[in-house]
Amino acid sequence: MSFESPLMSSEKFIPVWAPALNGNEWAYVKDCLDTRWVSSVGSYVDRFELVMVEYLGAGFAVATVSGTAALHVALLLAGVEAEEEVLVPAFTFIATANAVRYCNARPVFLDVSPETGNLDPERVREFLEEECRLSGGVTVRRRSGRRVRAVLPVHLYGHPANMPVLSELAQAYGLKVVEDGAESLGAALRGERLGAQSDLICFSFNGNKIITTGGGGMIVTQHRHLADRARHLMTQAKADPTQYLHDMVGFNYRMPNINAALGLAQLEQIDKLLQCKRRIAHLYQQELAGVPSLRVAGEADGVTSSYWLVNVFLEESRTMATPADLAYRLGAAGIATRPLWYPLHLQPAYRDSESYRVRVAEQLWATGLTLPSSPTLSDGDVQRVCGFVREAVMTDRATTEGSVAGLAKEDHHE
Ligand SMILES: *Cc1c(COP(=O)(O)O)cnc(C)c1O
Repeated sequence: MSFESPLMSSEKFIPVWAPALNGNEWAYVKDCLDTRWVSSVGSYVDRFELVMVEYLGAGFAVATVSGTAALHVALLLAGVEAEEEVLVPAFTFIATANAVRYCNARPVFLDVSPETGNLDPERVREFLEEECRLSGGVTVRRRSGRRVRAVLPVHLYGHPANMPVLSELAQAYGLKVVEDGAESLGAALRGERLGAQSDLICFSFNGNKIITTGGGGMIVTQHRHLADRARHLMTQAKADPTQYLHDMVGFNYRMPNINAALGLAQLEQIDKLLQCKRRIAHLYQQELAGVPSLRVAGEADGVTSSYWLVNVFLEESRTMATPADLAYRLGAAGIATRPLWYPLHLQPAYRDSESYRVRVAEQLWATGLTLPSSPTLSDGDVQRVCGFVREAVMTDRATTEGSVAGLAKEDHHE
């Protein structure tokens, strides 16, 4: 069956993401160039960090070259050492797990909640109770004999993880918590922004994240000594500013001024950006409500999502449209989509890793699809996407129901 759209050539292409750069981006970057403060020292780094601390109601912020670098250093600050284990959701971008490997530690992949795709506290509890032993405040996984040092929840696609329960479990088992907030700047849990109370949370400002610095990230913490140590580690552990003395093996991970200039300009517009993303998500929910066997991801009780990306899930059934069918049809109409994160325990790079009863992550991946989610989308763009989604799902239903009915009839004859 072919699918042809009369709009195919006349309508504009709709990408999954394009950043909105409508504020002081030009002015601040030009200022960096004019003053020749382009590198990792400069006033925009300080200002970006300061405004972020104010925005989040947090203690301290340290800007980094990437979200991945922020995660790497945050795990070191949490005390993660070689051959220790870190509990990681199986459903996230690979950078989350890579940061654990950079510490020569080992991720153990746990399953996620079907509603949110976030680390499921009940699976974490089950894992700790059944697979681990706790003595003297130290948790060791029985089978490997390795210490479980930390848990690394991800606020996936902008939806906060269940931090109250995860923190309680972490406390009970002597685990450190490092949050991967790369996709969730501005999201809130029970009215409080993520990061306001975190021991360690990492953000990303990659080109397609809530705000962008081109590339960049940030560690946010309530603890001055952790922020100081982060800065030290990220500037090659320089112990003496004039003599090139270094007291340990550090990293070149600090954010350059020119990127911070972009970031500051973006952060000035965060309220508007988040409002825009909410409006888009709500419009998708409204326009696609009632489409049979399709669910648009929403928010759990007490949660304000950043709605980084809008995802739809198709009911798992052999007879219905698959995400790949939907992606193909939207693609033919000039509408880009992307698959959800490939489950980490199935990644070639992690073929030798350990996982514990992962099932939901695979289901979500197999049934989900990301729709265009740019803050630059107009209501008309969203309506156009939804029109094609409805058409694709309905057409497939009609044809498959027809053929299933036909099949049943033939069966009957036999
Ligand atoms: C984007 C992302 C990262 C990595 O951030 P970079 O800035 O690209 O290094 C880490 N974790 C998650 C969940 C992400 O989406």
